[in-house]
Amino acid sequence: MTDTLAAAAEQIGAAARGLTITDIQTLTFNYQSCVGRDDEGHGHPAPAHTKTALMTRVRTSIGLDGYFVGGSAETAATAKRMIVGMDPLLREPIWHKLQQVQRLDPRAMLDRYLAAIDCALWDFAGKLTGLPAHRLLGGSREKVPAYASTMCGDDIPGGLGSPEDYANFAKTCVAQGYKGYKLHTWMSPYGPDLKRDIAACQAVRDAVGPEIKLMLDPNHHYSRQEALYLGRAIEEMDFYWMEEPMDEHSTSSYVWLCENLRLPICGPETAEGQFYTRAEWIVRGAADLSRVGISDVGGISPAMKVVHLCEAFHMRCEVHGGGAANLQVLGAMGIPGEMYEKGLLHPHVDFEAEKPWLKTSIDPVDSDGNVPIPQGPGLGEDIDWDFIKDNLVRDWA
Ligand code: MG
Repeated sequence: MTDTLAAAAEQIGAAARGLTITDIQTLTFNYQSCVGRDDEGHGHPAPAHTKTALMTRVRTSIGLDGYFVGGSAETAATAKRMIVGMDPLLREPIWHKLQQVQRLDPRAMLDRYLAAIDCALWDFAGKLTGLPAHRLLGGSREKVPAYASTMCGDDIPGGLGSPEDYANFAKTCVAQGYKGYKLHTWMSPYGPDLKRDIAACQAVRDAVGPEIKLMLDPNHHYSRQEALYLGRAIEEMDFYWMEEPMDEHSTSSYVWLCENLRLPICGPETAEGQFYTRAEWIVRGAADLSRVGISDVGGISPAMKVVHLCEAFHMRCEVHGGGAANLQVLGAMGIPGEMYEKGLLHPHVDFEAEKPWLKTSIDPVDSDGNVPIPQGPGLGEDIDWDFIKDNLVRDWA
């Protein structure tokens, strides 16, 4: 057995020398969805309709590929021109080379599309070694507590149309095992409404009691005074954090808000600039908890830099968004990240049915409110290739 493993390790080592990227491709497939988008891009329940998803594939010289559901055909074409012939294990020079495109043409390499390339490279590295990405990153834990993260408010009866609706849904989520709950309250065209935000937070706190961790992600375009008014109200309700109540481009406004609140502020989430921006927020005191999502910063590689940056400052780093790659980052964290964001959830939407291309859920929540870190090689997704083939719109190109 030992000899066999040593021979296999030798084989992998030999295969890993002289590797090159041979192609970067995308395909598209259809699926049925019950989530629509409002004018600002927020998800809400909608009648069943057809959506098209895109998958990115990085091909290599040994016939082993890395995959990521996401990306764009245009970005894949740009990346193909730039990194074919490079070693797929050299994620650092690849990431920097692609990221530098953003300087003169940000749209050619948006962070969420750069993330598709980087995550597909991590998927490849995991498949090459037979290990999940978090173990290649040093590992730390096999499960993570989840919180239920709601969709934004709406006007749907029994949906998220009133403070009572948020409270009722919170009770449902807690009964399922969640130990935390985050409200996304009313945004355009259903809000904003400062008083109604506060009423919803109070209704949820009253419904779930003092032990459940509660977070708020309100309208992102409040003024300083509105953000302070909201923050002061929910710090009295023992909320765990508030995120993005103002446009994140004004770092000074966040410094001011942190100085005026006991309530922890979490961010930045959507501000551009990857780990560079997060470093500035930390040293300026613009947040109490940092925030990183693989789509916000361009992949697993830069997300881990934020994680390590936070560790050096004894600062927690809460992960934005769900999915396999974010779970791999959470699995690789030593100290900073506490919870997994499961969502976005809504009383009228079957969350699991929205990803029919996965044979098994990537983020099932157990009765204690924990989500396991995927253990399959790479990103650990169990992709249903038959489903994709049956619903193919455009094959690999
Ligand atoms: Mg948010």
